[in-house]
Amino acid sequence: MAPGRLTVITGPSGVGKGTLVARLLAKHPSIWLSVSATTRAPRQGELPGQSYFFLNREQFELQVAEAGFLEWAEFAGNLYGTPRNAVEEQLAAGRPVLLEIELEGARQVRRSFPAGFQVFVRPPSFAELERRIRSRGTDSEEAIGRRLQRAQVELAAAEEFDAILVNDDLDQALAALEAQMGLIS
Ligand code: ADP
Ligand code: 5GP
Repeated sequence: MAPGRLTVITGPSGVGKGTLVARLLAKHPSIWLSVSATTRAPRQGELPGQSYFFLNREQFELQVAEAGFLEWAEFAGNLYGTPRNAVEEQLAAGRPVLLEIELEGARQVRRSFPAGFQVFVRPPSFAELERRIRSRGTDSEEAIGRRLQRAQVELAAAEEFDAILVNDDLDQALAALEAQMGLIS
């Protein structure tokens, strides 16, 4: 079977990546979403093994030493990584694979999978990004500050990506993402 295609979705925290991805998967169940590992504490409602594999720093670093991650990065004080084996298995089986990861990880994947497709999600404005992070109600004031600071760096890198998507109206953004990924014509 032909190898599947690898798509990366990146964008500042709070822009709506998780929301868009959930909608995309509901419409296109053949897409396989990678579950990342993180040292961040679970948020309310997050399920281990489903939202993330929640590891302590020692467990995470062991997996790094064993080359168990396809890519990994530190983001806002926590470590995040994509488990390598599962992604490689899914691609080998011909399934479309989706990674929802931050900028440094996207850059690593770009080097190892140059044929992959990378989308950057932008907010309609920085003020709206801040409003969305706050409205989610899951992060401390300190975490929000770190995420907004990092957002400036991420937004400046948008042009590196194969496609840019503005998540203003959610339905329109989803349709644009489907078109960019070649899921609808
Ligand atoms: P991310 O995964 O990028 O950190 P989330 O998917 O958690 O972001 O979304 C952050 C907040 O913004 C959530 O409260 C979500 O409901 C809201 N949101 C997402 N997309 C939109 C949109 N197009 N318009 C308004 N609010 C949105
Ligand atoms: P959150 O803590 O809000 O769930 O995620 C913070 C950031 O980490 C988001 O930009 C998210 O896309 C990114 N992220 C999630 N999993 C991974 C991963 O496996 N690798 C990398 N590099 N970033 C990730």
